[in-house]
Formats: sequence, structure tokens, C-alpha cells
Amino acid sequence: MDVSTSTGTQSFTAAAEAFTAWLDRQVTIAGRGDGTDRLGVAPASTFWLGRLATEEEVMSSDLGQRAERLEPCAIGIRLRPEEPGPWAFTVRVQARAWVLEDKNTCPDPDRPWRGLPAVDVPVSVAVDADRPCAGAGAGALELQQAFADVGAAGLGAEIRVELESWEGEPELVIQLINTSPAKHSQLQDTHLYETVLEVTGLATRPFRLDALPDSFRFDRNVPAYGINVGVDQLPGASGFRTTDTVGVTTRRPEYWNSERPVPDLTFAALARDPLPPLQALVEALAEYHRQQWEPLLGAHPEWDEPMRREAEAESRAAGDEVDRLRKGLRLLQSDAEVRRAFQLMNEAINHSAGGRYDSWRPFQVGFLLGALNFLVDPAEASVVDTVWFATGGGKTETYLGLLVTAALHDRMTGKTSGVTAWSRFPLRLLSLQQTQRFADALAGAELVRRRERLKGAPISLGFFVGSGGTPNKIVKTATPEGRDPDPDSPGMPDRYQVLLRCPFCRSADVRMHFDRRWWRLTHQCHGNDCPWPEAALPVYVVDSEVYRYLPTVVLGTLDKAASVGMQAAMRGLVGPPVGLCSEGGHGYTYTPRKATPSGCLVPDCTATARPLPMPSARYAPTLRLQDELHLLRDSLGAVDSHYESLLDHLQSALGGPPAKIIASSATLSGHDHQVDVLYQRDGRVFPQQGPTAGESFWTRPGSPPLRHFVAVAPRGVTLDHVSDRSLDVLQLAVRRLAEDPATVCAEANVDLVHAEKLLSYYGTDVVYGSTLYDVEAATRSLTSNTSSKGIEAVQLTGQTDFEDVRAILQRLERPEIDFSERIHVVAASSMLSHGVDVARLNVMVMLGLPLSTAEFIQTTARVGRTFPGLVYVLHKIGRERDAATFRHFAQYITHGDRFVEAIPITRRSRRVLRLTMPGIVEARRLAVMEPASGGRLTTISALRKHMHDAGLGAADQARAIAAILGFDGPVDDLLREEIRKWLGVWFANLDDPASTRTWPNQLGASQPMTSLRDVEASVPIHD
Ligand SMILES: [Zn+2]
Ligand SMILES: [Zn+2]
Repeated sequence: MDVSTSTGTQSFTAAAEAFTAWLDRQVTIAGRGDGTDRLGVAPASTFWLGRLATEEEVMSSDLGQRAERLEPCAIGIRLRPEEPGPWAFTVRVQARAWVLEDKNTCPDPDRPWRGLPAVDVPVSVAVDADRPCAGAGAGALELQQAFADVGAAGLGAEIRVELESWEGEPELVIQLINTSPAKHSQLQDTHLYETVLEVTGLATRPFRLDALPDSFRFDRNVPAYGINVGVDQLPGASGFRTTDTVGVTTRRPEYWNSERPVPDLTFAALARDPLPPLQALVEALAEYHRQQWEPLLGAHPEWDEPMRREAEAESRAAGDEVDRLRKGLRLLQSDAEVRRAFQLMNEAINHSAGGRYDSWRPFQVGFLLGALNFLVDPAEASVVDTVWFATGGGKTETYLGLLVTAALHDRMTGKTSGVTAWSRFPLRLLSLQQTQRFADALAGAELVRRRERLKGAPISLGFFVGSGGTPNKIVKTATPEGRDPDPDSPGMPDRYQVLLRCPFCRSADVRMHFDRRWWRLTHQCHGNDCPWPEAALPVYVVDSEVYRYLPTVVLGTLDKAASVGMQAAMRGLVGPPVGLCSEGGHGYTYTPRKATPSGCLVPDCTATARPLPMPSARYAPTLRLQDELHLLRDSLGAVDSHYESLLDHLQSALGGPPAKIIASSATLSGHDHQVDVLYQRDGRVFPQQGPTAGESFWTRPGSPPLRHFVAVAPRGVTLDHVSDRSLDVLQLAVRRLAEDPATVCAEANVDLVHAEKLLSYYGTDVVYGSTLYDVEAATRSLTSNTSSKGIEAVQLTGQTDFEDVRAILQRLERPEIDFSERIHVVAASSMLSHGVDVARLNVMVMLGLPLSTAEFIQTTARVGRTFPGLVYVLHKIGRERDAATFRHFAQYITHGDRFVEAIPITRRSRRVLRLTMPGIVEARRLAVMEPASGGRLTTISALRKHMHDAGLGAADQARAIAAILGFDGPVDDLLREEIRKWLGVWFANLDDPASTRTWPNQLGASQPMTSLRDVEASVPIHD
């Protein structure tokens, strides 16, 4: 095609779709060998698609079924004939052979392997229903002759048809088998390559997938199944053809599914007067429910009972959602403070959007409207509201809308200080991009607070991840063995920079500074027109500063909840601190210690503590927010469930109302059970799904592609080889685009004007491994085994240094001008799945299916954020699970969430109890008993005296802890016994005058967990 004939009006999305299709062709061609006539290496050691081993080889392998999966000797198609037999149809076979020529006589001695012309043989097949073996061995002679004709005499293949029956209905399994000998005297390689099987002339009907209760939503028809291959339907449904990979395209969602016009949900409109557009939104939702759900139930007499019951329950839940949004709307109409907080929140979010977008998606506002009521009704805390996102799309902004509304509402109603929300993310390392978005929104809220003169402390952010990321505290003089830095430690203060830019003015000129007077590690903006009037930005990154200042929103990792069993100052995250230091700028004080005699956490402070400036009940956080709820499973979930109960207990014991819990999850399977186990609360999901899969009032698939998934079942070579070769081909392809854009654009059917942008958006590949081992192996072999030169590969894993992550993200977002200097490959682990949001990552090679479908969904959502993504899923085909997924890959992608395994989780585990007991007991000592005692309970003798004086013994403590954990049923006897036993040891040690123990945290059988991950994740926990 001549470039000049391409139109000038092709959109970039259309160009990207064409370009990814072209990239995919390049990879498939390299995998099969199409168009290659000569090779220097044996074809069997390089091609991974389209090849067939010999039947003899597979039969004689001692790997059994696995051998057949690792390198099959057959491909096939399973069909359901429309009519009863006998059947007659045509099977067309294509295949190619490779021969090794003599180096001495070969015209190209460096490449002695020669690909022969392909054979293309139509075979007529007849199958008699009474004598099913009649179809076996068809075409053997024709194929043998065809191979001989192209110069591969000795090779053979045949068509075998098996007649099977499923529930009395016939099914035909039509296969092409390589019947060549494993070894041949003349032929060095008896594999077949570039094999294709095509079936025409047979009327068929689709298979029906099993009916599950929720299947009323799904199209359960599958036209045909492939055996070791994918299957395409030929045009006009005239037949079927095998494909070497299985390609499935998903469509970018649209966020409005109503005939009515989309209400004006711009930040500006909602800040001005939220009621009219929100009213229109709720009315459109109610109309959708009337039109889509209500008639549905009467329209399907063929549904079985479980399906009908499920549909009725889902319809009711969708109706409840309509009611809840109406309630939120009424609250905005009737409560001036809530309405003002909501309006101002829109201004704050407008600031953080910074002009990149100016409005909400309807479902984001829907979630806010449905959740708002907790601001005025404490009873709402008994329900966990989970926002569910199948494919990203604004989750963080939705949280932020709620957090900012709550923070502003808190300021309006007298909570002038303290933590409004504690947000926890389940990974060790929080994404800096995610953190920046929080900082941006809170800066917006703070600007609004100042303008409106709302009383209280600046709205601020605390970054609470602990060692590994930021320091626990800054000490006066660091010791070689200590982890805490002093002001002059290496890397101080720059290495602790968290913000990528100033949240107030967006200047990238943010510098770190250590302020000795206030003993603070600060971010300072040096931008020219920054609206923030103070030197230090309202962001706290040192744990002890989080305790001292109690920032409005604390953003941290899940693990940090463990600190509640180790650190007296954690009290500030569940209730009131002890006092406020009279020295300005020192912040809140806690129970005094030897090193902090006044309770002030600033080294050497001798000032006295003043009373709290706010009623103590208001220090309790208003919200706890849990991101990626689905990751709280197995032992981590079990341990966390105990700590969640502990947090609830401490908050209540310190006089605060319960926190409302908001969560997000990528999966719905077993949601309510999971929430009950974790939080001892009811669960509610937003948005409710509509009556058709992938569609609801809030979303429906649009026409632009979102991601193209390609399932690859590598044959005969290692997964690493396929990964290296795929990345190599992808990199060679974009390098050709860089060097010769005109030719490549013509080949790919892309308008030349898009070349440079395509190079930027498709020039960086992600290789994803579920394990660190896979990621490191991929990086190593990439640099040694690829033919494209100068591949710049970086790693993003949980082990990657904080500073490196920041630098890599910056390079990805602002790529070098010269392509050769850019990052070309990012080798990543699950760390990538959480909050890394880079529009330039659009091509991914996945090394085997991740262990959970949730991880698959999350991870692949990292590519194709803005433009079409391309995802290669290399199956570890020797594993039964990967093989099973390959067989129904299309359903796996399109039915997504149905394949998500229910979350395995329980809180009723004695093994977990033994891990969590020390932290529970210590947290009660530190946060509740010690402040109540009026003195210090830091020594065993002081604690012993206090327990005796207060009349506290093992029996009552055991009852209290069992109640905290909800172990109050008849089935919980063993758990209660475990608690009694544990406390029995603790009290015996407490009362033992000969004990050599020094500190109270040594009284139990073990010490408090330092991280909720101290438990081995691989050990399953059962009831
Ligand atoms: Zn600034
Ligand atoms: Zn002080």
C-alpha cells in the first residue's frame, strides 16, 4: 500500500488499533515461521506456534499427558453437528516441513535449514453414526503424497474423527495428527510446522456452557472448542479454522447507559448547585431499573429455579441502590453542612484534576451519593461500602471525593484536628503516584478551607509506611545498628522525598529539608507562584511526625496496623493523644517514656503538656479505608481480621464512635463473607451489576478497543524462550518504526502522522512475572538473549528501592527525546498492579497465569489505560490450571469476574490467634490501661501492681478479648480456650518473682507481630 493513499483523518485510537494488530502479526509470524525460508538454527529450537511433534514421540514420552501439552502431536476442533449422522464434510490441512541441507552444497551455508513449500490438501471425510471409526485415518495417502511432492518424502499426517456423546447429543472431535516417524534416515526433523486445520460443509450448533445461578446474565453459547489451538469461525459461518493463538478483544467502557442526556457532572456545576444534576442522575437510574430489571423476571420461563432466585435477588439489590441514592439526594437537600462540604469537595477535586479532566463519571458521583449518609448517621458504620471496579477507571478519585467531603465536614462540625481517615493499601510499598493524587486532592481541600476560613489545623497528609520507605523517627545520633537516621545520616534528607511535585502549584521543584528547630523532615516547594504560604508543605513522612501532628488523612500500608501493639503513640490513630506540647510546633504528646519525659516526641523537649484543644471523642478517625480488599485473604486476611477488631475495640474504649469503613475491590466473589470475617460488619457493593454481563446503568462496553488479549500455548520450547523472542520481535518492530516510519506505517495501515506518538505509546513493553524469581530471570535473559541491541530494561518489584521507583516512574511519564535512551522493557511483579498508572505502558508479556484471577484482572488493567493495549498471556502449559484456562480463554476474558475464586478467609484460627494475641494484649496495655493508670506501665513490676490494684485477672481479660474478636458462639470454645491458655502463661510470668524477663512485651509466649506479614503467606488457614 502506498502511504499517500492513507487518509489524513485516521484517529490515533484507530491507528493504535491497527498498529497493535500489526505488532501481533509480527509476533505470530516469528512464532510460526511464516515467510521464513532459511534458518541458521534448527526450527524445532526456535518456533513455538503451529508446530506438531510426531505421535510416536508423544506416545513414547514418560511425561504422559504433560508431554502432549508441552508439545502436542495433534490439533483439532470439537463441534456439535446440527443433524443426526451420517455426516460428510471437508477438512483442509495446511502444513510445512523443514529440511537440513548439506553445508558443502547448500547455497547459504550459514543457514542450512530450508523451509519447503507448504502443503495444502483438502480431504473429504465421511462419518457414519453407527460405525464411528469410519472417519479415522482419513487423508493419510493424500497427505503423504503431498509431502513427497514438496520434497519431504517420509512425512505423514492424517485426519482422525471421533464421535463422542454428551447427554445423548453427538459431538465430533476432528483432529490432524502428525503420523511421521520420530526419527527418519533422511529427514533431520519430522515435526510439522505452520499447521492449520479447516472444517467446512458441516452444519453445527453451539455448545452451551454450564448454567450457574448467575448465568442469567451471560451468553452461554460457544460455537466450537479448539484442541491445543484456538478456533475462528469462517466468514458467513461456513466453517471453522484453527488459530495458533487465541485473541480476544475487550471494549473500552462507556459510563452512561440511558436514553436520557448525561447530567452536568462537572466539578464546576456540582460546586455551584449540585441538586439539579444529581436529581437528574437519580431519576435516570430509577428509570433504568424500571425498564431493564422489572420486565426481565417475567420474560424467561425457561430459567431454572436457582437462576430465577438469583435474578430476583439481584433485581432487589439494584432497587436498594436506587433507594440509597435517593436518600443521599434528600440529605444534600436538607442538610446545609453536608451540602456545603460536598460543594467545596468538588472545588478541591477540580484543583487536583489540574485541568486534565473537569468532571466525574456518573458512577463516581453515584458512589458518593450512596455513601454520604454516614456523615450524619453513626449507624451507617455497621455497613462496609465497597466500590467495585472491573477495570480501574477512577477509583482513587472516588475515594478522594469521599475523604475530602468528610475532612471538610469534620472541620465544619468542630473536628479541628486529628485524623479524618486512615487509608491502608495492602502492599509494602505504596505507589508514589497514588500518594501524589492524595496530596493533590488534600491541597485542593486545604486551599478551599483557607478561603472559607474553616477553623482548625491545615488539611494535611501523612505518609505512614515505616522502615523500608520512610523513617520511624529521626534520632539525634544514629547508631550503626539502629535503623533510624539522624539529620546527618547518608542520604538525609533527600532520599525520603515522597512527592513527585508540589500539590499546590505542580512545580517539580520540590526539595527536602530537615528543620532542627521543629525536628521535622519537610517537603518544601520552590516554585515561583506557589499559593502555599508556608515553607513546609503539609505532608508528614516520618512515623513520629504522624503521631505528633495527626494529619487529616493518613496513607499507609496495611502492615502498619501492627504498630498498635508496639507503639504507645499509635493511640493517636484510634483515639485521643494524651496532650499537646506547650512548645509551639511540637505537636501532640503521649505517655511519657525515659527518652521523652514530657511525652513530647521531639528529642530533649522539656516543655510541659497542655490539655487537648478538642473534645477527646472527636479524635477517632471518621473513616478507615481499605484499598484492594480482595488481597486480604488467607493468612494475611486472618491476621488482619484480628487487628481490625482490635482497632475497633481501641477506638471504642477510648470513647470514640466507630469508624465507617470504605473499601475497594477488584472482585465480588464472596464479598459479603469476606467483609463479615474481616470487619464483623455487613457488606454492600457499589455499583450493582445490570441484568446483562458487563453492563449496568453505570457502564456498558463502547466500540473502541480496550485491550487485545492473546493467549499463547508455547510448544516444544521454554516459556523463557518465547518471552525473549516475543519481546525481541516487539522491540525490533518499534525500532523499524523509528528508523523507517513510512514503510512500517504502510504495512500496518497507519497514517504516517501518528508514527512518533505510536513509538512513544508502544515502544515500552512490560514483562510481568508473578514471582520475583520469574521477573529476575526475565530481566537477565532479556539482556543476553535478544538480538535487538541496546535494550534498556528496568525492574519494578517490591524489592526495588524507593528512589529507583520514583526515578523510573518519572522516566516513563516523561520519556527521553531520543528513543534509544528510553526505557524499553519494564520487568515487573505484582507491585505494578497497584496504583502504577502510566499511559505509555500498552504492551505486556505475561509469564504464566498469575495464581489468582483477581491478580490477572488487576495486572492487565495496567496497560491500555488510555489507548488500546496488547497483552500476551504466555501459558505455563504444563500446569493443568494454565492448560484449562487456555481451553476457554475467550470466556475467561469476557466473563472475567465469574472466574474469580471466592476469597478464602477465616478469623477462626488458633494458629493465627497465637500470632495476634501478643499484639492485642500489648495494644490494650499501651493505648488503654497505661493512660488510664495515670502513670507508666513500662516495667513488669509496675504492670503487676496495676493489674492487682485494678483487680484484673486472666479470666476477665480472656472474656474481654474473646468478645473483641467475636468469639462468642458455642463453636468458639476451642478459640476461647486458646485465649485462656495464652493469658495463663502471661499472668504466670507476670507474677513470677524469679522471672528474668525485663519488659511487659516479653510476658507472653511470643512477642507482638512487627508486621501483619510476619505470617507465612503460603500456609493456608482453615476454620
Ligand atoms: Zn508549590
Ligand atoms: Zn515538645
